[in-house]
Amino acid sequence: MSNLVQVPRSEKGLLRHPAHRYGTSERGVALEFFGPDAGPVDLLVMASMHGDECDSTVALSEALRVVPNGALANPVILSVNPDGILRGTRCNANGVDLNRNWPASNWSPEPVRYKDHGKTVQDIELSTGASAGSEAETQHLLALVERLRPRAIVSLHAPLGCIDDPDDSALGRWIAAETDLPLVPDVGYATPGSFGSWCAEKGIPIITWELPADPLPAVIDSHAPVLFKLITGTYIDEVG
Ligand SMILES: [Zn+2]
Repeated sequence: MSNLVQVPRSEKGLLRHPAHRYGTSERGVALEFFGPDAGPVDLLVMASMHGDECDSTVALSEALRVVPNGALANPVILSVNPDGILRGTRCNANGVDLNRNWPASNWSPEPVRYKDHGKTVQDIELSTGASAGSEAETQHLLALVERLRPRAIVSLHAPLGCIDDPDDSALGRWIAAETDLPLVPDVGYATPGSFGSWCAEKGIPIITWELPADPLPAVIDSHAPVLFKLITGTYIDEVG
């Protein structure tokens, strides 16, 4: 399985795997995933909870489009926040940072501050939602996770260039080695109401894969092959 053949380059332009709809965004866009639609599954792999991190969607799509029919072992969400991608914003259409909207015990109504790409000062404010779990994108993803019951979750972000794995798991160490990124136990600042906080309270291991701030072609070359192994399940032969 580890030498699974990819679809020919001539056919990789189109996403041929059927999409499953798991809900609707705040502005009426379909929330979709690909792959197995019954749990329990091994991994759930997702991208673009932040709409201004669309490199993560492209890299994951590059991997998904070369998976042969019948070989997609794990569910894939190309965009958790499609409204944000369409608007080019980190937040969803209501101005909410979806990675601070989760109903974890540490959720806070205080605005979250983030920094521009490449800048160092976190001075741009976003809402964490009118209440914990207030946003449609959060509610539908929460229901999907509870339905698919993944053993672990891999969530792609950008551009910090690290693998954040609080559990220091074999999978996290393998991804760090394969991508030549540092393995870290946290991103260095508090993240109340984050998806990771919610997963931790539910006992679901989560690895946050922060793509580096490299040009997109370089990101695709170095990360899509690793994502391919994750979503086809062939990584298991290498991780053990
Ligand atoms: Zn992010």
